[in-house]
Amino acid sequence: MQIKIYRGTHQIGGCVTEIKTSNARIIIDMGEELPSANSLSQQFEIDGVTIGTPDCNAVLITHYHGDHIGMFEKILPGIPIYAGKTAKQIYGIVQSVLKNKLDKGNPERVNTFKEFTVGKPLYFGDIKVTPYTIDHSAFDAYMLLIEAEGKRILHTGDFRMHGARGSKMASVFEKYCKDIDVLITEGTMLSRVKERIITEHELGRQADKLLKENKYVFALCSSTNIDTIAEFYNAAIKNKKPFIVCEEDFQLEILKIVTQNSNSPFYNFNRQKIYSYGHNLHELMTGRGFFFLGRTNYVTQKAIEAFPDSLLIYSMWSGYLDKSHPAFDEHKTDFVNYALNCGCRLAHLHTSGHASVEQIKKVCKITGAKTIIPIHSENPEKLNSLGINGNIVVLQDNQNFIVE
Ligand SMILES: [Zn+2]
Ligand SMILES: [Zn+2]
Repeated sequence: MQIKIYRGTHQIGGCVTEIKTSNARIIIDMGEELPSANSLSQQFEIDGVTIGTPDCNAVLITHYHGDHIGMFEKILPGIPIYAGKTAKQIYGIVQSVLKNKLDKGNPERVNTFKEFTVGKPLYFGDIKVTPYTIDHSAFDAYMLLIEAEGKRILHTGDFRMHGARGSKMASVFEKYCKDIDVLITEGTMLSRVKERIITEHELGRQADKLLKENKYVFALCSSTNIDTIAEFYNAAIKNKKPFIVCEEDFQLEILKIVTQNSNSPFYNFNRQKIYSYGHNLHELMTGRGFFFLGRTNYVTQKAIEAFPDSLLIYSMWSGYLDKSHPAFDEHKTDFVNYALNCGCRLAHLHTSGHASVEQIKKVCKITGAKTIIPIHSENPEKLNSLGINGNIVVLQDNQNFIVE
């Protein structure tokens, strides 16, 4: 069996992994590169997967972040694409919005994706793949246990152990993912060791405190970061403040999908308690205060102008506001500056979607991985200095690794 990382051995995002036996070939993730990457996605091709004659049993998408799914349209027709059921529905909404607003996006193709079932194996030739839910800032994300030729490979996808499902993760690894021959792990935080990580529940506690201290609260957060949105929503309900969104069809539709597909009360977004922003709400907002899940758009800007004595919670990665970072987003910085000029106070409240170095070490230990291949990292070599048992193999892009 061979493992090849086409892209992403030394960068965060855009990772594409191939696992191949003599009679089967699968690809894990087909995402776009993040803005900080050096090369261009457009030039990226894989023979038999994106060009030529289809020669691939399946492409498996671990989660709906653009750096894992964004190039799905390049996959040759005829090759089945798999994703989680809820992830597929959420991504379908994202693609519909792109199509309606920018004439981009392909919700029809997303609709043809096949779906993972947790713990239910899929068979591609002699490769058996079992998906397990993993904790990440994308909802309905998966790690994949791949078994073939008597070997066990675990591909973590992007993961962490401090989100809403974080406390369960160690026991999931214990139960299903021991005796691993090759662990392919994400290593985002290997180059961000100084970044302080709080749990999503801690973020919820801090949001609760901010809601108590500030009558009017706006927040900027990714529309698909469901764990953080659920913490904000639950804090707003606890404080008896209306939870307001600004784009009815889009954000509400995503929250509805989550509520329908989840049994957990934590993800139960009650439509009766969610308001879609409009001037008609100003009286209610003035009286009771509010939590407004905004976007960096004109509607939110107008709402901020109407309630300038507010707190703006910036709940995204700080790198987007940092002028020296390649992923710096002028649009976001302009928006935050505009809010500050209006009179808003600013709070930064965010937690990472990625495993800390300690969490990566823990997974290496629980899985008993004999070989560890780091991907999705700007500093994969750092893994060598962590005292991990097991053979650490830092691959180059396109290098073949034979599993023996
Ligand atoms: Zn990623
Ligand atoms: Zn991700």
